[in-house]
Amino acid sequence: MLPDIKSLHHDELQAQFESWTLPAYRLEQLLNWLYVQRVTSWDAMTNLPKALRERLRQHFTLTTLELVRKQGARDTTEKFLWRLSDGALIESVLLPANPALYGDASDRHTLCVSTQVGCAYGCKFCASGIDGWKRNLGVEEIVEQVLAVERVPSSGFRVPSCTTVSVPEPGTQNPELGTRNPNPEPRLINNLVIMGMGEPLANYDTLMKALRTLNAPWGGGIGARKITISTSGLAPQIRRLADEPLQFRLALSLHGATDAVRNKIMPVNRKYPLAELIAACEHYQRRKDRMITFEYILIAGVNDDVEETRPLAALARRLNAKINLIPYNTVQGLPWQRPSEAIQEKFLAALEAQGVTATLRREKGHDIDAACGQLRLRTERELAAT
Ligand code: SF4
Repeated sequence: MLPDIKSLHHDELQAQFESWTLPAYRLEQLLNWLYVQRVTSWDAMTNLPKALRERLRQHFTLTTLELVRKQGARDTTEKFLWRLSDGALIESVLLPANPALYGDASDRHTLCVSTQVGCAYGCKFCASGIDGWKRNLGVEEIVEQVLAVERVPSSGFRVPSCTTVSVPEPGTQNPELGTRNPNPEPRLINNLVIMGMGEPLANYDTLMKALRTLNAPWGGGIGARKITISTSGLAPQIRRLADEPLQFRLALSLHGATDAVRNKIMPVNRKYPLAELIAACEHYQRRKDRMITFEYILIAGVNDDVEETRPLAALARRLNAKINLIPYNTVQGLPWQRPSEAIQEKFLAALEAQGVTATLRREKGHDIDAACGQLRLRTERELAAT
């Protein structure tokens, strides 16, 4: 198996190019084709000599994602269902103009990214875990979700033309560098939330490498503070994350503020109960000095009683956490329901009355298989039936 070109970092590619005795600007050109022009074939890299393109083809794969389905409109949530090279299906979700979900004035183009095919953690309310875990995604498959969404024309992003700009980099005299765009248009996607299919921290090393690529100036150029990593509660990996040099944000998929509720809907809580989980979050906070977000899916009759706001507010105050309330999106085949809007508002008001910061996300995607993993699940069922 050849490694994929997008699974490698600048320093690794630099070592390879040096071993081929290529000038440094060739690597600049290659990275420009991959992460600015977002091309999908070696042949499109027209300013690289044919012999180099052939050499790259012999040493690396160039993975792209095949768009199987897209749902939603540009002004609402857009879901992308991708087929990977082994036929597996994953989802990415574009959330345009969601106000202030993760700390900025407006997270205008947030992409929710998957990290695994399926999920082993089996949260009872979740479509992604229904058929279990199939495999981890590779670095290139995580990175590609951003590039592939930006390639889809209706996502509103125009890939910058590589032929209209011919300004060499300062200090670089080689005219062949003229096809590098020194002022690429800003990315469509400037915020990432790592909370699509899979438990992100269960694919830890791969995810960190992908995020370093998406953060690097030579790669995605997305600020680390604009990247939020979610976890269902892997306490040891939260402690690891605390030691990472980059300042990623952490979101805890809490969904219950007592062990009784979490044990009922999230099997991971039996391995890492709340006391252990909260201690890990406190450690993260001490190291990072960053606000944590609690994700709390409101499920009728499970965790939406106003009494549940007391332990939830206590945890939020202890960790100085903000709470995102998310009304449940029903999943075909699962028994859980979304609470009424009156109950949602009452829950929100009770939290605010206890002095914690909380927002109620009025999901835009309720009609388009909005629940995590639902589009993939439905498509797999349809394919199996044909
Ligand atoms: S909610 Fe997240 S961790 Fe839980 S089963 Fe779904 S994808 Fe896995």
